[in-house]
Amino acid sequence: MIAEVIINSNVKSLNKTFDYNIPISMEEKINIGSRVLVKFGNIKQLEEGFVVNIKESSEFEVKDIAVVEEKDFIDKPKVELAQWMAYRYFCNVSDCIKLMLPPGTGTKDLQKRVKEKSLNSVRLLKNSVEIDEDIESKVLKSEKQIKVLKFLLDNDDVLISDLENITEVSKAIIKTLEKNGYVEIYEKQIERNPFLHKVVQKNANLNLTDEQKYAYDMVENAIDDCMNSEFLLYGVTGSGKTEVYLQLIQKVLNQGKTSLMLVPEISLTPQTVDRFIARFGQDKIAVLHSKLSIGERYDQWYKIKTGKAKIVIGARSAIFAPANDLGIIIIDEEHDGSYKSEMSPRYNVKDIARYIGKKYDIPVVYGSATPDMDTYYKSQEGAIELLELTKRANKSKLPKVEVVDLKQELANGNRSMISGKLYTELEKNIKEKKQTILFLNRRGYSTFVMCRDCGYTAKCKNCNITMTYHLRQNRLKCHYCGYEAKAITICPECKSTNIRYFGTGTQKLETEVNNLFPTATTIRMDVDTVTKKNSHEEILNRFKNENIDILIGTQMVVKGHHFPNVTLVGVIAADSNLNMDDYRASEKTFQILTQVAGRAGREKDEGRVIIQTYNPDNFSIEFSKKQDYKLFYNLESKLRKELKYPPFCDIIVLGFSSENEDDIKRVSGMVHKYFKTKIEEDNIPIILYKPVPAPIDKIKNKYRWRIIIKCKFGNNIIDIINNCTKEVFQNKTNSVNMIVDVNPNSMM
Ligand code: ADP
Ligand code: ZN
Ligand code: ZN
Repeated sequence: MIAEVIINSNVKSLNKTFDYNIPISMEEKINIGSRVLVKFGNIKQLEEGFVVNIKESSEFEVKDIAVVEEKDFIDKPKVELAQWMAYRYFCNVSDCIKLMLPPGTGTKDLQKRVKEKSLNSVRLLKNSVEIDEDIESKVLKSEKQIKVLKFLLDNDDVLISDLENITEVSKAIIKTLEKNGYVEIYEKQIERNPFLHKVVQKNANLNLTDEQKYAYDMVENAIDDCMNSEFLLYGVTGSGKTEVYLQLIQKVLNQGKTSLMLVPEISLTPQTVDRFIARFGQDKIAVLHSKLSIGERYDQWYKIKTGKAKIVIGARSAIFAPANDLGIIIIDEEHDGSYKSEMSPRYNVKDIARYIGKKYDIPVVYGSATPDMDTYYKSQEGAIELLELTKRANKSKLPKVEVVDLKQELANGNRSMISGKLYTELEKNIKEKKQTILFLNRRGYSTFVMCRDCGYTAKCKNCNITMTYHLRQNRLKCHYCGYEAKAITICPECKSTNIRYFGTGTQKLETEVNNLFPTATTIRMDVDTVTKKNSHEEILNRFKNENIDILIGTQMVVKGHHFPNVTLVGVIAADSNLNMDDYRASEKTFQILTQVAGRAGREKDEGRVIIQTYNPDNFSIEFSKKQDYKLFYNLESKLRKELKYPPFCDIIVLGFSSENEDDIKRVSGMVHKYFKTKIEEDNIPIILYKPVPAPIDKIKNKYRWRIIIKCKFGNNIIDIINNCTKEVFQNKTNSVNMIVDVNPNSMM
């Protein structure tokens, strides 16, 4: 027998199959999906590949497969999914297969690891401040050692083999770190269980409200009839969507099938998982979370693969979990940007859920209080069934929202970040021992640093983007590449000392709040305070349990948390998303304001929300004040239709990057010409724009250009793009990398 093998590589020209002979001794072990090692070309080392088809004979003279992995990780449907994704997302099949493998594979010692019961693990003995000090004082110089420590700071407690593979350093480096007291190497027992510490109180089904019941029944019918229907569960914040999910999962469980529950990475907290454990117990649940150690994730993966886990909870990539008897897919907070991958393969998890739903005839449920424009549009067109929850389940009222005009505040001489109105409400809340959340969508201290005499602004030397000032370290940071520089007091251009720090960030806000309310306690949550495992959760727990007066945070505070004592939410600057050069600016503003407002008054006490803005008349702010999604949708969809934006049309971004700008100009010109000719030849309705530099035209020393195409994304355009890529990049003689992104999250 002959196996068609795909080599594991992201080189474009290797995205095809090669025939290999299956030796008699391996015939039993090789299936579609098997991972193998083969001799490829003149390369000495054996190359890794995947069997994607098995056939009787080959027209070529073929070599034998050298090694086959004992265990199959993926099966034929997964291979088909990978092939479908590769075509649709313009990447190699092997790139997609990699998403489906258990965590920590791609390593040769996997087999060994499965058999061993205890393993060598590494954990840190010093904290980030101590390590930073040692780097600064040059006690630590070795780049490799620093690399290992930085990795451990983000992922403490890692297997030595994983550490070696991921950071690409030798064991000797890790041993040196141990000798110098930075890390500890110890024996770690496996059969790791991330909930081991947990005792969660059992919790039974609630009596569904009429609206909940109707929604439940509709999906239940689809489950009973084995129908692939899609549902949008559109319910205001706190309307009890989760209770509907829980009872649907129970239904699927009763049939002996598996449920896939996707939540945004940032909402995937123990608090979220506990609600499922409380209903179903831990044994049947698997959680796939990037904050778990690789070993823990590996165990969860196997718990699903072996059918022990019947409920899979995870972020985006959990869609590839190895469940082989799926009964339902639920995507909560379906509007969340994290469901679209911004790295190759640039997939949207909703496309994949739709594909799987169709293939297995199971329902797919999307839930949100602020649905994605595209999902809601589909529900209006009839492709998705709309289910509505219009009231909060525990009868608490939606919060009262007020908008404060910051222009007016400025005119009244208030230059602080806190308006008069917000100040009064904060004062009241602190007095009454109620909690407040202040939301500001920008971290750091000041947005940018400018010389008032010559207009110089400090920009990152790798990326053409302004650096942000961070007070605590007194340094400027680039939020794109992480480059840091000393804060400036003298202008490097004109030597003036008239330097000003403009704008605001969460750090500055915290300082200001502390000055205004010296007796109030505050806690801050943004990527600068949330770095280590679980720390995100720790901050939220401290806020809740220690009854801290004010939580100050970015985006992170917005997602699905339930704080009974929070009665006031302040939005410091609602405009930060509006000024973005992005067709979704209004949608994002509406979503974020509605979601953040939904954090207030979820129990007995009514919530108040104060939105500060320079654009009080903007419709996305006006409608979020009313918390009226439909008004927002109707107006926004009119605008989108006029301007030919999604959901009426798709936006395809062809992105080019290279250190050599001349190469980019030449290659993007070739691609543009290819499309122009094709469109004219076949008379296809496409709007094609000329290649131009991207809004951020340089990141990490690479120039960035792009071509934008507006059209309905479908097979004809996919074919043109795939053919164009083949032709232009066939004999790669240029330095240019091209990516294709359909309806990307960011247009920058
Ligand atoms: P959502 O997921 O829509 O934000 P939740 O599921 O978190 O809403 O529900 C909000 C609150 O209402 C929770 O405290 C939940 O226990 C409660 N709740 C949900 N459904 C019911 C019900 N049918 N009866 C009583 N309380 C309910
Ligand atoms: Zn200057
Ligand atoms: Zn940078």
